[in-house]
Amino acid sequence: MEPTAGLMALDAALEKMLASLSPLTDAETLPLSQCFGRILARDISSPIDVPGFDNSAMDGYAVRLADLTPEKPLPVAGKAFAGQPFSGEWPAGSVIRIMTGAPVPAGCEAVVMQEEAQIVDDGVLIRATVRAGQNIRLRGEDIAKNAVVFKAGQKMSVAQVPVLASLGVAEVEVVRRLRVAVFSTGDELRLPGEPLDEGQIYDTNRLAVQLMLEQLGCEVINLGIIRDDPAALRQAFIEADRQADVVISSGGVSVGEADYTKTLLEELGEISFWKLAIKPGKPFAFGRLPNSWFCGLPGNPVSAALTFYQLVQPLLLKLSGAQPVAPLRMKVRAAGRFKKSPGRLDFQRGVLRNGEDGQPEVVTTGHQGSHIFSSFSQGNCFVVLERERGNVEPGEWVTVECFNHLFGG
Ligand code: AMP
Ligand code: MG
Repeated sequence: MEPTAGLMALDAALEKMLASLSPLTDAETLPLSQCFGRILARDISSPIDVPGFDNSAMDGYAVRLADLTPEKPLPVAGKAFAGQPFSGEWPAGSVIRIMTGAPVPAGCEAVVMQEEAQIVDDGVLIRATVRAGQNIRLRGEDIAKNAVVFKAGQKMSVAQVPVLASLGVAEVEVVRRLRVAVFSTGDELRLPGEPLDEGQIYDTNRLAVQLMLEQLGCEVINLGIIRDDPAALRQAFIEADRQADVVISSGGVSVGEADYTKTLLEELGEISFWKLAIKPGKPFAFGRLPNSWFCGLPGNPVSAALTFYQLVQPLLLKLSGAQPVAPLRMKVRAAGRFKKSPGRLDFQRGVLRNGEDGQPEVVTTGHQGSHIFSSFSQGNCFVVLERERGNVEPGEWVTVECFNHLFGG
């Protein structure tokens, strides 16, 4: 068994990290068309009732209940269209032709759908039973004037923005974008497109982090690849801290001879924790720099992406003022074996699928090495295996967490 003493549990690390942050308060005002993905800075109350007036839910006839006599045709005294209300006198013993969305005329007690009315020479015959209020959409029944529609911290998506449009709200105050600086560390790293010398590899982490930051609505300050040289790294830390709310590096956080990140964080700022009892992703450093928060991701690409997902994502959400959302996890049957040693909380990549018995089941994506980035593309969920658990045999229950939009979920 590997030594796990001194490693911090993920829950404790998350709690410590989130407790030390307070959300940004700076806001900016944006038109609705530009606020997708942004976080509301203030509660929004409705300036109007929605619907704004009682209106018809059907194409049909507006009626007064006392006028309805079976077998007696009722003359049509006028018409009401959406946007063109009926405005004349409504004589007793008649109906008004009405279309969906048209304001119901004063005195109207119900709308009879046209399929339930028979057109005859002298008007319409209504034989169906008519209930008071039927097919009338009431003023304010969706949203009442002055009601709080969305609270500060609400993330804006297609589920929210059109609601604001329906209230006539044209612009909203949202929290300003977080500025996040990112750099990779490592003498072995090259840019895609460049030739590789012996022992060199392409920098994948910076792109992964940049893409995830963009999906989370952050402004990205990309500082490139930094050599494993304390002076160059020091300069990068200072530069990043000067510009950003959050600084994210990858690599150099473990205990190798070229791993300077932790020492620099200690020198320039303060370390909160740097070793987690999770797999992959044990060396993850979190702390403070003079003007910003610092997250040091591990170098191995799966570990970097995973620790970003499980730790940096909630950090960014909290800083941007978003309402916290716990990841949705559920128990399903393992349809195959999962290899695991006790000691750390594993986030293996799995494929959640429909089993032959109609119940969901999960299988491994295969090799779980922290350099196998293709496991994200083969899988659709994390299989979250408890810290003290060993191997999982087929048929056992395991916890899964579906990938969110960052990994195409
Ligand atoms: P380190 O934490 O710097 O010791 O790196 C651990 C492993 O991750 C090594 O195999 C590195 O070559 C690899 N690695 C570090 N940074 C990156 C990166 N940006 N992209 C891809 N692999 C990396
Ligand atoms: Mg390195």
